[in-house]
Amino acid sequence: MWRRCFSSSSSSATATSALKDKKWDALVIGGGHNGLTSAAYLARAGLSVAVLERRHVIGGAAVTEELIPSFKFSRCSYLQSLLRPSIIRELELRRHGLKLLKRSPSSFTPCLDGRYLLLGPDKDLNHSEISKFSKQDADAYPRDFMDLLLSPASKVLNNWFETDVLKATLATDAVIGTTGSVHTPGSGYVLLHHVMGETDGDRGIWSYVEGGMGSVSLAISNAAKEAGAHIVTSAEVSQLLVEDSGAVNGVLLADGTPVRSSVVLSNATPYKTYMDLVPRDVLPDDFIRAIKYSDYSSATTKINLAVDKLPQFQCCKIGHPDAGPQHVGTIHIGSESMEEIHSACQDSANGIPSRRPVIEMTIPSVLDKTISPPGKHVINLFIQYTPYNPSDGSWGDPAYRESFAQKCFTLIDEYAPAFSSSVIGYDMLTPPDLEREIGLTGGNVFHGAMGLDSLFLMRPVKGWSNYRTPLQGLYLCGSGAHPGGGVMGAPGRNAAQLVLQDVNKS
Ligand SMILES: Cc1cc2nc3c(=O)[nH]c(=O)nc-3n(C[C@H](O)[C@H](O)[C@H](O)COP(=O)(O)OP(=O)(O)OC[C@H]3O[C@@H](n4cnc5c(N)ncnc54)[C@H](O)[C@@H]3O)c2cc1C
Repeated sequence: MWRRCFSSSSSSATATSALKDKKWDALVIGGGHNGLTSAAYLARAGLSVAVLERRHVIGGAAVTEELIPSFKFSRCSYLQSLLRPSIIRELELRRHGLKLLKRSPSSFTPCLDGRYLLLGPDKDLNHSEISKFSKQDADAYPRDFMDLLLSPASKVLNNWFETDVLKATLATDAVIGTTGSVHTPGSGYVLLHHVMGETDGDRGIWSYVEGGMGSVSLAISNAAKEAGAHIVTSAEVSQLLVEDSGAVNGVLLADGTPVRSSVVLSNATPYKTYMDLVPRDVLPDDFIRAIKYSDYSSATTKINLAVDKLPQFQCCKIGHPDAGPQHVGTIHIGSESMEEIHSACQDSANGIPSRRPVIEMTIPSVLDKTISPPGKHVINLFIQYTPYNPSDGSWGDPAYRESFAQKCFTLIDEYAPAFSSSVIGYDMLTPPDLEREIGLTGGNVFHGAMGLDSLFLMRPVKGWSNYRTPLQGLYLCGSGAHPGGGVMGAPGRNAAQLVLQDVNKS
């Protein structure tokens, strides 16, 4: 398939061989946005740093790839609001090319009965939209989300509201990226995690990024490179090098090149780091057991589409050949009630992909004119629930994959007739694809589930939430560390700060 790397990093054999000529102050395994963030902070503090990324392109799950000529896909993540404002400021990411495109309205939920719900940052719009269903819910809408921390999302939302479509629209944020249902205890936390971000100071507002999510990684890598970091792609780490004393002494690349440093930060998942990269018999048994049995389940599939026209939603009676408010935000398909979401989840609990999947559709090209040819569009479908190992077929079977993709397109046709016929081409990442292509263990989008048993002091496992590891000189800097998944940069920044403290002490 024709591809263009969205990176100017060095990837030649020369770049790899240059790595072994010196002992680095720090190495970063993985050029996801968190690894790049760590590298930027370490380089700015004066350390010599090399980032080693196994793929041909930096960014990990925050990546832009032009898989179909002239259509640039945010292949995994597609919306930003979690990226810490301090990182945007300190690394001067706007000067390095980051441009956020705010969405208003930010969500659209079409109903098969001809109604629809728009929501967004505009309080008056929210009030009038919710009033179409319930005046009482419109008055109750602005609430304190802290109630959500421990509860099933359904319990909180049922307490607050009476309108099915409103509850379902809000509930989608409680299940996104998880295998759980809206009734799962703790699902409220996932909702909270998704409303704690901001865009330009506006709380809970998600934006597109011009050029796709790879532009976040590119801006961070520009900051890192300006500070002197060395970023190498197509450089897979196969093992950590450990001295007899038990301290880290560098890494071995898959091509056999040793790269030396007594400080290594891993942006790979905790499972990958400890089960595959650290040599056997180096880590305590109880620690290895805790890592081995962490929850990496996933029921997420991403489909990236190139289309030749915008979907025309039946419930919006006036056709918009050009973009209307319904096309700007996240479009919730098959999410008219919490029971509909629960039933989609039940299918996957029974081993099969949802018969009526829950789909979050976004059309970033409505606001971002840099990612598709004029008049044509890029569409992201974030789809649940798709088990890693379905009991009725295999994701390795092209016919099985195609039939699932068609099921999703047909469901969208129910709301936007003839959507299927607008498809020019698509790219589909099921949980095993996310694992193989992007390196996400089990296909889990967060580097490990964000359940209450694996957050805060328990992330990734009890006793090891401060980015240090049982191996001297090894640190975790990715989403598997506190505060978890999302394009946030916080684990990368926090880990770098801890490394600097440790380096300054020694
Ligand atoms: C389909 C999908 C949709 C999502 N949507 C959103 C969204 O809209 N908004 C949001 O905020 N979050 C979203 N997320 C979550 C978010 O993208 C991730 O949590 C985040 O990008 C992870 O960043 P990271 O830097 O910690 O790790 P990663 O992005 O996973 O990067 C880790 C890097 O390490 C590399 N690596 C692994 N092993 C090795 C090795 N042995 N040698 C060298 N390199 C190695 C990998 O190739 C990868 O580049 C989504 C995730 C997915 C999968």
